[in-house]
Amino acid sequence: MSSLLLDNIGELVTNVADSGADGPLGIRRRAAVLVEDGEVAWVGPATDAPAADRRVDADGAAVLPGFVDSHAHLVFAGDRAAEFAARMAGQPYTGGGIRTTVRATRAASDEELRTTVRRLRAEALRQGTTTIEIKSGYGLTVADEARSLRIAAEVTGETTFLGAHVVPAEYADRPDDYVSLVCGPMLTAAVPHARWIDVFCERGAFGADHARAILACGQALGLGVRLHANQLGPGPGVQLGVELGAASVDHCTHLTDVDVDALASTAVDTPSGPETTTVATLLPGAEFSTRSPYPDARRLLDAGVTVALATDCNPGSSYTSSMPFCIALAVREMRMTPAEAVWAATAGGARALRRDDIGVLRPGARADLIVLDAPSHLHLAYRPGVPLIRRVLHNGVPQ
Ligand SMILES: [Zn+2]
Repeated sequence: MSSLLLDNIGELVTNVADSGADGPLGIRRRAAVLVEDGEVAWVGPATDAPAADRRVDADGAAVLPGFVDSHAHLVFAGDRAAEFAARMAGQPYTGGGIRTTVRATRAASDEELRTTVRRLRAEALRQGTTTIEIKSGYGLTVADEARSLRIAAEVTGETTFLGAHVVPAEYADRPDDYVSLVCGPMLTAAVPHARWIDVFCERGAFGADHARAILACGQALGLGVRLHANQLGPGPGVQLGVELGAASVDHCTHLTDVDVDALASTAVDTPSGPETTTVATLLPGAEFSTRSPYPDARRLLDAGVTVALATDCNPGSSYTSSMPFCIALAVREMRMTPAEAVWAATAGGARALRRDDIGVLRPGARADLIVLDAPSHLHLAYRPGVPLIRRVLHNGVPQ
């Protein structure tokens, strides 16, 4: 068993509130982290650091848990740059472009899809994302959804079946038949490769009854529930997610007071304070790329709702894999403090995936760490667009 000491850390974000650590980010100064066998083995003052086989000097920089991107769509072919340009020239976003990507994805070989997934996974890792959730949803046939998930599962354990992304063109006049396909053979083919099930619950995609039926089928086969909800307008998604005990409702751009209360009602006491069992995952890259109003994170946080940040990386409405970019948007546009945004991009993402071994730096956690080219986590929002991720350790291995 070889060990590695990450030493001379100026500011260590642990996300663990205990003695010797400051504030909700559990910040320690002049710290060190010992890594053994892919896990954090020890965290403490640099002056007390144990011996290790190998030492990496952080040069007084800030060190954080790796980012947890709990919402991404990486299995697709083609891009929609022209649609983006048209939108920036004034055309509204409707979600209709998803079918363009479905056509390209069905026509692509496994190898083309695999190359894209691996390229984007590597791109995210370079920017500090050590855990990423990947959805299917651009195949929308039994075979294409199954292969999308199989390819996603090659790079992450956090795979999500999104056969109910949109009703594909060939089922446009018989959506009930498509829902039966999703709940039947498509789900059966997806389950061996998926941990989660998701539905795009939105006008023009799936309404509450269809979404409830599909999610219940997935739940019955052991999949966890997450949901695209309330992105383009008010709707039933958030309350449906709460009703079904979803780990996360994602987007949350258009919320009523009843939606916020429903989320707040899922609060439970935890060792780190009250948290909601259904997380609100905000995806500001989508509002940026569709030039839409941002969700109001402050309103959710003030109501006691646990908030996560994720990229929604996809070729149509948010083609960014950058968690630092999302942190900067959240601080500038969504009334989050830098500390809240950093927590949401690390521990918050872990909560949205119901994981306690990531997004946190304590003994026993996975040794996923990022070293910034900066003395403080504040710089992630303070220096937007600047490549501040100097070094990434994934499962304890320097990348
Ligand atoms: Zn999405």
